[in-house]
Amino acid sequence: MARYTGSVCKFCRREKLKLFLKGDRCFTEKCSVDRRPYPPGVHGQGRIKFSSYGVQLREKQKVKRIYGLMEKQFRITFDRAAGMRGITGENLILLLERRLDNFVYRMGFARTRREARQLVHHGHFRVNGKRVNVPSALLRVGDAVQVRDRSRKTALFADSLDAIERRGLPAWIELDRKEMLATVKAFPSREDITLPIQEQMIVELYSK
Ligand code: SF4
Repeated sequence: MARYTGSVCKFCRREKLKLFLKGDRCFTEKCSVDRRPYPPGVHGQGRIKFSSYGVQLREKQKVKRIYGLMEKQFRITFDRAAGMRGITGENLILLLERRLDNFVYRMGFARTRREARQLVHHGHFRVNGKRVNVPSALLRVGDAVQVRDRSRKTALFADSLDAIERRGLPAWIELDRKEMLATVKAFPSREDITLPIQEQMIVELYSK
């Protein structure tokens, strides 16, 4: 699968917003958005006026980057959301939140979604007792995700409690820290997702 290997701080600077893609560094004064609060590139400090298409495009790019998806995968998720009952934009965010890599990040066992994806890919988690190494796997209500026994003894998850204390645990996740086990209590509602996202813009963009 294709993946982006360049600087991710550029993404935050482009959106002029902290997207928290680098874990601990995002909470320090080294954060690039704090140090250079303007878009990257030679015209970054000039006046940039976006058309309505440009605004919609930026919103889509922002969400893609928050969840760490490439265009093709994001579009597939959007098409799936459009085929579901209810509001397409909300369905899209819900599908993104239900991904296993996002859940691992939300339960506090990875500093970033990118790291969560790698941990899942390397088989460190069990879903309902079965080893799952597919980051895009969608969770259902009642699913239990646990760090594999062997992995628990490694240093990989040593500072995971710090992460959860800093970010807070979403209300829709139940966490047993001792057992390193998290359960999907309910699907998150739109209000549970406090990211600054205007999903309607993405719907408008893809509807053109
Ligand atoms: Fe974004 Fe984090 Fe880099 Fe700051 S340190 S620009 S929040 S990825």
